[in-house]
Amino acid sequence: HLSKRLLAVAKLVPTNARLADIGSDHAYLPAYLALNDQLAFGVAGEVVKGPYQNAKQEIKKEGLDDIIEVRLADGLAAIKATDKINVVTICGMGGTLISDILATGKDKLADHPQLILQPNVGESNVRKWLVENNYQIDSEQIMQEDGHIYEIISASYTPVKQELTEAELIFGPWLLKEKNETFKAKWQKEIAKLETILIELQKASHVPATKKEALQTRIAQIRGVLDGEG
Ligand code: SAM
Repeated sequence: HLSKRLLAVAKLVPTNARLADIGSDHAYLPAYLALNDQLAFGVAGEVVKGPYQNAKQEIKKEGLDDIIEVRLADGLAAIKATDKINVVTICGMGGTLISDILATGKDKLADHPQLILQPNVGESNVRKWLVENNYQIDSEQIMQEDGHIYEIISASYTPVKQELTEAELIFGPWLLKEKNETFKAKWQKEIAKLETILIELQKASHVPATKKEALQTRIAQIRGVLDGEG
């Protein structure tokens, strides 16, 4: 059942974790971990009825009701203090939604659980939230599945705020160090996309020059990173 993407997330979850998977849909991730004896306790949180029912069914089918509780709740409201959650996963959503969920439910993070986040887009929003809220990025992965490129960010609490440069927020501090082939492919694609937009803007006379310049600057920044200068 488990996609390559969620398998990569699963590998980052420590053994015997007390996990809350927020936006769990079919609860495939917590179910997989429980079936592999890697979970002490799990919460599968869903805000939408359909996916909530999917999760309920999956947990029942696999006979995991004693380890995993499926809860209908908005974001981190699925977590109770008595759960003693030490890992939170939020996967397969936009980075803005992920950081909104974290910000709205911040009181549920009082015990500083490890956060494993897999934004589909807008990764820099997630990194920004993490560093501003005393989380340091411990590891990052970038991987490709079914023509999509995904990033996975694992972070843990730090009393001393981590400082990231603007480039590190955008590209990821670890991904930027490594610059592997998938990373290059992702940002090549982004350049191609931005260049298409730029060509359209250049055809349109009413577009302010500053807008085109901003786009050119962004393309140049990505080029700089790919060419190894930053
Ligand atoms: N996490 C699974 C994965 O990575 O394959 C499912 C991803 S699915 C695309 C996103 C899920 O997040 C949907 O089922 C949606 O209902 C749920 N979701 C969106 N906003 C949420 C929120 N505020 N709280 C809980 N779940 C949410």
